[in-house]
Amino acid sequence: MGFPTVRPRRLRSSQRLRDMVAETDLGPERLIAPIFVQEDAREPVPVDAMPGVHRWPLGAVHEEAKRILEEGVDKFLVFGIPARKDELGSEAYNPQGVVQRAVRELRRELGDRATIMTDVCMCQYTTHGHCGIVARGPGSWYVDNDATLPYMGKIAVSHAEAGADVVAPSSMMDGVVGQIRRSLDEAGFTNVLIMAYSVKYASSFYGPFREAAESAPAFGDRRTYQMDPRNAAEALKEAELDVEEGADILMVKPALPYLDVIRIVKDAFPHYPLAAYSVSGEYSMLRAAGERGWLDEDRALLEVLYSIRRAGADAIITYYAPRAARLLREGRNAFRGPRSHRGGQAPPPGGSQQPREGGREAEPVPRGGGQGRQARHPGGRAGGLGHGLRAPHPGARG
Ligand SMILES: [Zn+2]
Repeated sequence: MGFPTVRPRRLRSSQRLRDMVAETDLGPERLIAPIFVQEDAREPVPVDAMPGVHRWPLGAVHEEAKRILEEGVDKFLVFGIPARKDELGSEAYNPQGVVQRAVRELRRELGDRATIMTDVCMCQYTTHGHCGIVARGPGSWYVDNDATLPYMGKIAVSHAEAGADVVAPSSMMDGVVGQIRRSLDEAGFTNVLIMAYSVKYASSFYGPFREAAESAPAFGDRRTYQMDPRNAAEALKEAELDVEEGADILMVKPALPYLDVIRIVKDAFPHYPLAAYSVSGEYSMLRAAGERGWLDEDRALLEVLYSIRRAGADAIITYYAPRAARLLREGRNAFRGPRSHRGGQAPPPGGSQQPREGGREAEPVPRGGGQGRQARHPGGRAGGLGHGLRAPHPGARG
């Protein structure tokens, strides 16, 4: 059967019908907001390459977190910029380190109102800027995988001790997830989740973040441990290892240039929640085009987030998290109508609510409807599990 019997446009003829058959949903509960904390900052330091993003001083982190929380985003991924760096990245596992203090501040100020996630890596903390311990090999320096692992375990435990709900190892060291799971369990943190940067590419889209986190390597690059952008099937090997090692949530990073990878990882591991990290370069290019008026930034950012959800991500880490949440909350979602009408609303002028012939909009799309708050739908097409980001039991922290 085909045209003229079948007319796909019929299902697009009104906002109500489009909303009824939409395959993907997007709500603030899907979003995770990164927060940068700088140990020696006195006031918020703007990141030039990421307009609107700041590095926050200790003591003010919770104010930024509360602002984001008010927009409806209640998951944070904390990155630290320490005042001191050394060869062994010792500030990364210092109980008085910048992330540990930031997490305690957030926990103290927010209680259990937010899920606190931490980045577990060494690149911000080492003088050489690599994600692990550097050793001298035959002829050159290299990042020593197995020597790095115990440090990753120590970092994760120190974050858990400070009150983190979720630790997110980003080093791409082989075996890092298993090491962290063992270290957490031995220390009694059996309920702290691991969100593994399972599939992390050696990407040029990290450029603005490196300025934000001061984490550019002093020599060489990260291609000996991060994935080659030419590869997709290899992502399944990485994800499989992390599953075997005890990851609770898998991740693909970056998101937009790797939507195909998000899809194949989700298809291969539908029983595992999948996060996608929409990285600094993705944010900055949209921001730059938006500032120049080259595209409608509000519409574009939601379109990108929908594309990542459609590809198969359950959760999205994005610098747009508070802005996207505000758009969704205020009913300024360009793609869907308000979620519900409370009784007594006047019908639209003209009376008829039926889609009219020719696909014309039968119903005006209300703008800024205060009752358009997003309901908590248990998952769109890709998101079926809906249990990905639950905070651990508060009493069970070690
Ligand atoms: Zn790193």
